[in-house]
Amino acid sequence: MKLTFWGAAKTVTGSMHHVEAGGKRFLFDCGLYQGRRQEAMERNRNFPFPARSIDAVILSHAHIDHSGNLPTFVKNGYSGPIYTTPATIDLCLAMLADSAFIQGKDAEFCNRRRDYRKQIGRDAQECAPLYSVQDAEATYQLFRPAPLNQDHEIAPGVKFRSFEAGHMLGSSSIVMEADGQRLCFSGDVGRHGLPILHDPQSPPPVDYLIMESTYGDRFHQAITDASDKLAEVVNRTVRRGGRVIVPAFAVGRTQQLVMLLHELMDAKRIPSLPVFVDSPLAINATEVFRKHPECYDEGAREFLTDGNDPFGFKLLTYVREANESKKLNELRGPFIVLAASGMCEAGRVLHHLRNNISDPRNTVLITGYQAAHTLGRKLVERPAEVPIFGEPVQLRAEVAVLDELSGHADQGELIEWMRPLTPGLKKVFLVHGDPGQGAALSNRIHKEFGIEAVQPSRGDSFDLK
Ligand SMILES: [Zn+2]
Repeated sequence: MKLTFWGAAKTVTGSMHHVEAGGKRFLFDCGLYQGRRQEAMERNRNFPFPARSIDAVILSHAHIDHSGNLPTFVKNGYSGPIYTTPATIDLCLAMLADSAFIQGKDAEFCNRRRDYRKQIGRDAQECAPLYSVQDAEATYQLFRPAPLNQDHEIAPGVKFRSFEAGHMLGSSSIVMEADGQRLCFSGDVGRHGLPILHDPQSPPPVDYLIMESTYGDRFHQAITDASDKLAEVVNRTVRRGGRVIVPAFAVGRTQQLVMLLHELMDAKRIPSLPVFVDSPLAINATEVFRKHPECYDEGAREFLTDGNDPFGFKLLTYVREANESKKLNELRGPFIVLAASGMCEAGRVLHHLRNNISDPRNTVLITGYQAAHTLGRKLVERPAEVPIFGEPVQLRAEVAVLDELSGHADQGELIEWMRPLTPGLKKVFLVHGDPGQGAALSNRIHKEFGIEAVQPSRGDSFDLK
């Protein structure tokens, strides 16, 4: 078995790991790399190996940094199977089309700016989306459902089994068995007690482990504190007469926040005020959530059987149309709007941010991990102004961070998740984390288990034997 890291190496996006086993070639994940525009474009467009050379892709979950470059791969000639869980397939159908749509819009906008720059005699390159909605649709044909906890033989002498990762609907950790070795890819590891989802399940012992390290040096606040903090932020903003703008991942985080806001209003811990989910993707994803109750934990299932709609209440409006979205800006009085994308790199949230962050009454509520160089990360760092659509915008609104709902295990949770895998474990490869996070986790793993944990760089290869 030979393993080469082509993405999420010393960074948190673009998950893609190349495995040679049983004389065949496989990919774990094929995610979008997000970061500086030009660099991201180049990296996403150009694969370091021919797409046709890959025999099968195994996808850990639907988040765009894991699945989002599949249509480019297919466009480049890949025509093999993409194995993943049934819920992940349904989410990908919604998410990849949305990603294509956003890229198309983004390119249009970028080209309008380019035309303007040309008019004033400045250089500007033409912008093109990575892939179209048609490319996304061509990808759907290749998905093959691979339910959890079953062996799937994908080539002679090569099989894999996936385990609940508890990170998002349909998320999995993967164990591949070939050439006498067992290799586990953690995918993104979730947490015990997250709303809606099952708890993560640790696979049995393996020889090698590729593990995420997003929060490798962090310890989260308890999930139960999230409601209190959310209530405080909302109440504080309402007292100022402001709006709460929530950049939120359309899939997962949005549904959790909707449930929490529902509960807080029912309990009268926050005033009754309008809530808008301004994201066609979030609406489609909510439908996928409704279709896959097998992915719910007991709490969510009880809520359902009691006749509640966890994802709907009176003051909640789902905004599908773009012109309705624009009208939100004219609305008076406090309200809450949840819009994608979660790291503020694209999508409708950019318009809400541009229109609202210069007003000190408003709040931007950051609810998820923000990768380096993204607008979301810049907002958290609170400079006097931030660039939105290429223009500087004054940042005078409050920026609050609610990371209690993180879908990623913290250091202690990662250590407990990997404990059952460690008898016989030879080496750990830490991916999906900034170098500082990886270094902290590597030290802890060595101290706890006496096992070497390395942080591969992009392009590093390892023979596993
Ligand atoms: Zn994820």
